[in-house]
Amino acid sequence: MLELLFLLLPVAMAYGWFMGRNSIKQKDQTEKQDLSIKYSTGLNYLLSNQQDKAIDYLIEALKVEDDTVEAHFAMANLFRRRGELDRALKVHEHLVRHGNLPSKAQQQAVFELAKDFLTAGLYDRAEHMFQKLLKAKPYQQKSLTYLMQIYQSTKDWQQGIALKKQIVKLKDKHLLHNLANFYCEASLEAQKQDNFIQVVELLEQALACDPNSCRANWQLAEVYESHEQCEQAAKCYQAIYQQDKEFFPDVIEKMHNCYKSLNAEQEFFAFIRKVYDETGSTSALIKYLEFLTEKHGETKAIEFLLGGLKRRPTIRGFKHFVKLQLVSDSPEKQTESLDAIKELISAYINMRPRYSCRTCGFNSSTHYWSCPSCHDWETLKPVRGLEGE
Ligand SMILES: [Zn+2]
Repeated sequence: MLELLFLLLPVAMAYGWFMGRNSIKQKDQTEKQDLSIKYSTGLNYLLSNQQDKAIDYLIEALKVEDDTVEAHFAMANLFRRRGELDRALKVHEHLVRHGNLPSKAQQQAVFELAKDFLTAGLYDRAEHMFQKLLKAKPYQQKSLTYLMQIYQSTKDWQQGIALKKQIVKLKDKHLLHNLANFYCEASLEAQKQDNFIQVVELLEQALACDPNSCRANWQLAEVYESHEQCEQAAKCYQAIYQQDKEFFPDVIEKMHNCYKSLNAEQEFFAFIRKVYDETGSTSALIKYLEFLTEKHGETKAIEFLLGGLKRRPTIRGFKHFVKLQLVSDSPEKQTESLDAIKELISAYINMRPRYSCRTCGFNSSTHYWSCPSCHDWETLKPVRGLEGE
């Protein structure tokens, strides 16, 4: 509560000055004396820890005038930071209800009140106010962001899509990305009704909003495949690789099925080889081994895998290596395989950091007594878990 007192001190001073300046006017004088009483009563309540009564008195004492508006906002902000939402709400509501504020302050008050409602989970009221603020330029982008947040929580995809015009006009990448996902969600609903044309249309809208939406291509590929339009699906899978190489490993299996239907496995494995060369992905490597085994035999496949794992050891790669060894090995070859496995595991362990800071998570292969990142003492300890202690 002390910070609130400090906050109100300048207001009290300004108020005193204001009183002095205007002391000539007798009628004002009585009014201001009345305020002065309310103000000091408010402070008294504050000091005796009766905060709710204090707020009532202070709100009344702090007549909303140009020079006290900022103090109101600051007071409400302080309440909000302390998690006293109902009190922040009370102050903001007081400002909004005032009606005679300059338009800038009025908009700010509506915006802050909308944020209070949102935090309180009163979505209807928050939505109504954010919608009103869409016309106020300084709050347009923020209001759109909050509205999309509300519609995401309420799964009201169509309402979000209705904001398309404003979002496109604003060209905000993050909002466009959100909007694309709203289209994807809406397409899932159209899919339930088996409306193929609408599903494709919605997903194309998603791609128009955000050409990088991996998800839109992903869903498109699935829809095309389920309607036996495998050539279209194949294009989508390739697009996913161009859009986001990190997502790609998860569609390799589906893409393979798609190319099987097209009778174009040769083309598929050429693509996978390219993916492996470009990204070193373990999933692509394992997939490519299928082709090598069939075309050139197991020994060639194991050699290829071994080379790949030496360059880029991964646990999933090891697992596959052991699996191939178990299937193919003659007993005399076993020592050789164990040697290879030992070598791979050493390479893997050497790649991983030996120490991590327990305070900030900084990783290092060298030990320091003081963490180079957060400078805490003796927090860099050996890593625990799969590769550690
Ligand atoms: Zn640290």
